[in-house]
Amino acid sequence: MNSRRDFLQKLTASAIALPFFTEHASAETKNKNDKPYDGPVLKVAIMGLGSYGTRVADAMVACKAAKLTGAISGTPSKIKAWQEKYGIPEKNCYNYENFDQVKNNPDIDAIYVITPNGLHKDQVIRVAKAGKHAISEKPMAVNAAEAREMVEACKKANVKLLVGYRMHFEANTLEVIRMRTSGELGKIYFFQGLSGFRIGDPTQWRLNKKLAGGGAMMDIGIYSINGARYMIGEEPIWITAQETKTDPVKFKEGVDETIQFQMGFPSGAVASCLSTYSMNGLDKFYLNGEKGFAEMQPSTGYGPIKGRTNKGELNLPHVTHQTVQMEEMSAIILQGKKPVVPVDGEEGLRDMIIIDAIFEAAKTGKKVMLK
Ligand code: NAD
Repeated sequence: MNSRRDFLQKLTASAIALPFFTEHASAETKNKNDKPYDGPVLKVAIMGLGSYGTRVADAMVACKAAKLTGAISGTPSKIKAWQEKYGIPEKNCYNYENFDQVKNNPDIDAIYVITPNGLHKDQVIRVAKAGKHAISEKPMAVNAAEAREMVEACKKANVKLLVGYRMHFEANTLEVIRMRTSGELGKIYFFQGLSGFRIGDPTQWRLNKKLAGGGAMMDIGIYSINGARYMIGEEPIWITAQETKTDPVKFKEGVDETIQFQMGFPSGAVASCLSTYSMNGLDKFYLNGEKGFAEMQPSTGYGPIKGRTNKGELNLPHVTHQTVQMEEMSAIILQGKKPVVPVDGEEGLRDMIIIDAIFEAAKTGKKVMLK
């Protein structure tokens, strides 16, 4: 109990059984006249068959423009179970030693890396060298230097690099972004982001500095960072941060338990955020502008996302986030579609630069200026 999985599952419990992906299909994939979809299909292998990898695989069953065609794992029994569950042929299955051979496999266009954070950089670079598009889970790496290496490697190999920012495709989130960009909220002054849950098992990789790259900030605090950026629509220019630790045995050196941080934006807007592994059920965004506001709670869980604005309830229907995400990522990779909020490697790198600055500000107690 008390794991991230329990927390997110509670948020999504009512959503899992909903019918997949109908009225909110992207323009490219929408089945206008009930004709079968005959557009391009992104053939995807998932690397890391853990909790989130399984959620993505399940969500992809309902995709039209993306198809799960391969699996990469160090555990043969998991591969076998996935083969049976998702109909994956033997020739599309790899382990962590031999997955470079995917180079010669036309059944796989892209590899979605869903392993612990500390492994993303090397795995994405190997995917790029094998000539396949890479999708990395968030955080894309454990610091900005690693993220830059990934962006460069994918550029050099001429493959796309995307990051699994599923909220960038969520309908209610996009409605708030539309209200802000259309001027309905007026000049934006303030954002509050609360992101956290109580983490359980002290032996899990999320509390291992080498595999996680940190603690709550890498895992859940990143939602407030990324959210502040897409809700305000600007890039921060300064950061201040304060860290508190109540359990230094569980949260070892370099593994943050709770960090409060503030970000200043060029327009004068400010964000005040909390990232924590010690408080349950924190999943709230609040955006305030001179003419209106948006409040979302839950704001980043698996949904349904709920909230209200000065105009009333946010009530766009829930669609499984990862289904929409993979449909949209197919259009981005295969058709060059430009999403409302980017999900590319540069976007992931921006969050990593901010996380580096938050850690520096928390450590030194000083305001960190960003270029
Ligand atoms: P998990 O522990 O459930 O799964 C991780 C998988 O990686 C396991 O199958 C494990 O066997 C494999 N693995 C490979 N090498 C490993 C190693 N050296 N040590 C440990 N495991 C190893 O974790 P998860 O919850 O699936 O998270 C995986 C990634 O997905 C993380 O980067 C996490 O931040 C991200 N994630 C994203 C979301 C989202 O909503 N976008 C949600 C959950 C997790």
